[in-house]
Amino acid sequence: MNSSPKRVSPSIAPGESTKRDIKPPIRSTEPQGKLERLECSKCGEIYPHTEPQNVCNTCGKPLLARYALEQLSETWTRDTLLSRPASLWRYTELLPISDPADIVTLGETMTPLIRTKRLGAAFGLPEVWVKDESRLPTGSFKARGLAMAVSKAKSLGLTQLAIPSAGNAATALSVYAAAAGITAHIFMPQDTPAFNKETCQLAGANVTLIDGLINDAGRIVAERKAREGWFDVSTLKEPYRVEGKKTMGFELAEQFGWELPDVIIYPTGGGTGIVGMWKGFSELEAIGWIGKKRPRFISVQSTGCAPIVKAWEEGATEATPWQDAHTVASGLRVPQAIGDFLILEAIRKSNGAAIAVSDDAIREAMQLLPTTEGLLTCPEGAATVAALKQLVANGMIEPSERVVLFNTGGYQA
Ligand SMILES: *Cc1c(COP(=O)(O)O)cnc(C)c1O
Repeated sequence: MNSSPKRVSPSIAPGESTKRDIKPPIRSTEPQGKLERLECSKCGEIYPHTEPQNVCNTCGKPLLARYALEQLSETWTRDTLLSRPASLWRYTELLPISDPADIVTLGETMTPLIRTKRLGAAFGLPEVWVKDESRLPTGSFKARGLAMAVSKAKSLGLTQLAIPSAGNAATALSVYAAAAGITAHIFMPQDTPAFNKETCQLAGANVTLIDGLINDAGRIVAERKAREGWFDVSTLKEPYRVEGKKTMGFELAEQFGWELPDVIIYPTGGGTGIVGMWKGFSELEAIGWIGKKRPRFISVQSTGCAPIVKAWEEGATEATPWQDAHTVASGLRVPQAIGDFLILEAIRKSNGAAIAVSDDAIREAMQLLPTTEGLLTCPEGAATVAALKQLVANGMIEPSERVVLFNTGGYQA
């Protein structure tokens, strides 16, 4: 992915100026997002960010946000972060919201990066770290993406948002939409964890449980959205959730003193986190904040739903839909990801790998972080621990390497 395009578009796009005129002027000291345009991740077609957009009209692939990186490389310094709050909004120049009044926030704290003591030692690795995303609002990293998508939706005047979800995204959309006074329409499998079903209802969303998986839910949203007047916030069919998720990569870089780790082990469903971090690292390099080094991305899936692993093993550039997907890790129960080619590209270019772990291994690993480090994990987070075990056994990680596990959410009974 080329994230430092040379073409420069005007900073105020048509249609935006009038809107700016009726709002109070923003203090010039206030940081501003430097979003320029949306660009198709496949064919490069350009779209304005000043209107609601889903996928590319020509090839149906995800649109990605492009920023004024050259300008930022000259004007934005790492020191500016020192006086900003410990929240994902501290990276505002590389976020898609230009007017701070549009930000919908529930307190998205920077999540702790914790160095394990006994877990790493048990594997003979002195540097195993956990990025603990369970501290975010709603208890999962889905808050990052939905905080961004709902803020952008608010800035565009959208009032009806629809989402297909495997669980946590639905909870996150429900609460952010509620906070913004926007209506959320949720479509998710009937066997989605009770926590997700209940929290959506508590936050006043319109919930439809379906006999099927997230992709079936996605089809229903796609069929009904035009008639109902809903905007589709499916991940990577909506361009800004990935912008929220890339902040995991920004935080990691900053927390490690702008020196990226050697290995990132990430539980992969729709792949938004991998695509986002990969994109975020390119942006940081383009503005001169980090060098060329990238961590190896290890994508982890369950043997009950492993389309990315299968594609990776076959050397394919796209994945084929997984049949009869089942796993205890509901966030990994994604039979088909629209960003499959982007996930596989990030894995390949980072010299990484994709591996599957069984549900039995995930269940067993559920106790490892709690008992060794006192950190409770979700099944998806436990999957990264199971993967670590497998990677060490296969000699895929050197003892001298710095490894980061993503605990993408908290434990839910
Ligand atoms: C959604 C989800 C995942 C998968 O995330 P992607 O970035 O879409 O691959 C992993 N873990 C948890 C807890 C999730 O909710």
